Amino acid sequence: MRVLLVEDDEPVAESLRRGLTRYGFEVAWVTTGAAALKAAPADLVLLDLGLPDADGLDVCRELRARSEVPIIVISARSDETDRVVGLEIGADDYVSKPFGVREVIARIRAVMRRVKPPQGKAALVPDRYGRLTVDRRAARVHVDDEEVPLTPKEYELLAFLTEEPGALMTREQIMEAVWDANWFGPTKTLDVHVAALRRKFAGVLSIETVRGVGFRLVLEPDPS
Ligand code: CA
Repeated sequence: MRVLLVEDDEPVAESLRRGLTRYGFEVAWVTTGAAALKAAPADLVLLDLGLPDADGLDVCRELRARSEVPIIVISARSDETDRVVGLEIGADDYVSKPFGVREVIARIRAVMRRVKPPQGKAALVPDRYGRLTVDRRAARVHVDDEEVPLTPKEYELLAFLTEEPGALMTREQIMEAVWDANWFGPTKTLDVHVAALRRKFAGVLSIETVRGVGFRLVLEPDPS
């Protein structure tokens, strides 16, 4: 997946570029609004609002006028107005500086999940993880050759956790991705769903609790 990074602050851009590349994204980096508008099409745009040659909001408006490319606005401004205006003129999400690379990745994934057509090319072939098969197109899960019946939210939670087996996912990231919520309150519903997945996939995968942080999905080794 190709990300167009529009950011004039070199240290910020460098760390983002490194982080995104490490997670498998291809990053094209430009430092001005003019360059952003001339850049080759990308799958997603990360757009800083404070650019040397243009107001990032104008760049956002212009990009949106040309295409449906998902846009995540990044800004040092803590002003709530920017956030509201950014979303009004077509940005899909917003992150405030300072942010961690993981937070940006989680937002990219959440945005892509919202905009991705259900029959995306990547979704045509079911993902296999040992005995577990996740068919993201049909939203069905099999262990060996037997389908495991799941509720829609159980499926979404499993689909999210299997995107990156072994990675620690925070409760906030999971709530945002699976329940479409910026969630900072109680997340009891998440624990209930995790418990259901543990029960249904006992011996195939485990979901480790990292106290006070989140969860980590671990695939059990295939005995065969
Ligand atoms: Ca800037």
